[in-house]
Amino acid sequence: MSRQYQKETICIQSGWQPKNGEPRVLPVYQSTTFKYESSEQMGRLFDLEESGYFYSRLQNPTNDCVAAKICELEGGVAAMLTASGQAACYYAVFNICEAGDHVVLSSTVYGGTFNLITCTMKKMGIECTVVDPDAPEEELARAFQPNTRCVFAETIANPALVVLDIEKFAKAAHEHQVPLIVDNTFATPVNCNPFKWGADIVIHSTTKYMDGHAVSLGGCIVDSGNFDWNAYPDKFPGLCTPDESYHGITYTEKFGKAAYITKATTQLMRDLGSMQSPQNAFLLNIGLETLSLRMERHCYNAQKTAEYLEAHEKVAWVNYPGLKGNKYYERAQKYMPNGTCGVISFGLKGGREAAARLMDYLELAAIVTHVADARTSVLHPASHTHRQMNEEQLKEAGVAPDMIRFSVGIEHIDDIIADLEQALAKI
Ligand SMILES: *Cc1c(COP(=O)(O)O)cnc(C)c1O
Repeated sequence: MSRQYQKETICIQSGWQPKNGEPRVLPVYQSTTFKYESSEQMGRLFDLEESGYFYSRLQNPTNDCVAAKICELEGGVAAMLTASGQAACYYAVFNICEAGDHVVLSSTVYGGTFNLITCTMKKMGIECTVVDPDAPEEELARAFQPNTRCVFAETIANPALVVLDIEKFAKAAHEHQVPLIVDNTFATPVNCNPFKWGADIVIHSTTKYMDGHAVSLGGCIVDSGNFDWNAYPDKFPGLCTPDESYHGITYTEKFGKAAYITKATTQLMRDLGSMQSPQNAFLLNIGLETLSLRMERHCYNAQKTAEYLEAHEKVAWVNYPGLKGNKYYERAQKYMPNGTCGVISFGLKGGREAAARLMDYLELAAIVTHVADARTSVLHPASHTHRQMNEEQLKEAGVAPDMIRFSVGIEHIDDIIADLEQALAKI
């Protein structure tokens, strides 16, 4: 490639590069396995002495092309797809943590991630300290322990819409010699590149804006290649000392900047599964082609909707980082000058009860668990996605009991506002 393309171009052109006479569009390599001429060659693949496809649980050409596109959008060095965003969260952390280790976790992360790290991984012997993402530096520093192995937070928290001070978190992580893992699902690489601000690993639920049409679950892990694992071999023995399950390969020695992703693919994917199906990766790729176009419209529509709601007499509060009076307005301008995301949240003067009625009156906006796709949708986190949390946990997660999560789609803005107007008139 002769020049570094803009994101709009990467969305369309990156990944699949057909050779002479090959299909123009990325094919679905719907095959579990790949054929070789000699037994010896197959043996070298298993020893990681040679690179090549042999079984789709580890790698598949369709998936790799899509991972390469996301990698380029994020400005990373290596990436892999997973079956879901949850699998991406799990692998990203588990790749560098084992029993006896510790994670620093932002309190406002997605409910599924919160459960994964505070409950399920705890059963695996991995402890965690939950921190307020807006805590001052000194308080953040106190969350670290000698056995801390990573920090985990979200660029824009789902659903609290807290915008992360990425630089503050990266500084705290690096001062304690561990990487910062950022879930960039809501902002997407179109609106924010966390690597530019010091994050080391980025993960995505590609189920949301990347797929964009609510058709396929998926996740992605991208490595910036910037974290120097070898500087702290005692903290990251899985990367810096021989892997007995691969004939004594040391990932950092053999794979350099690709060590982290190579370990996650060859070891975690081999043993735990959670591969994204090639069919889903194919659909994800089609979604990615229009990601930058769609994000522009999502952000435009969300801004207009937030402004409309803010001016409405029945609305008690509106949370959207694009609103001038928002707590995170300045921070969003710094990290995401072109826009944040299409998700807004608000509460009604009538409280929780009015929220439920409003949702029932909406006609265009559908009640679904999903967010961040082309269709406008609505959810009540306290009774849906976050219903397993108690009052205290809800508060820490930034989820008010009356909070309505409104995911603004890419329909015409007049139709979205008209739908809200008719429903608000009835309560
Ligand atoms: C949805 C979501 C996840 C989980 O992703 P799945 O693809 O549903 O497994 C993780 N993080 C964030 C921020 C999300 O919005």
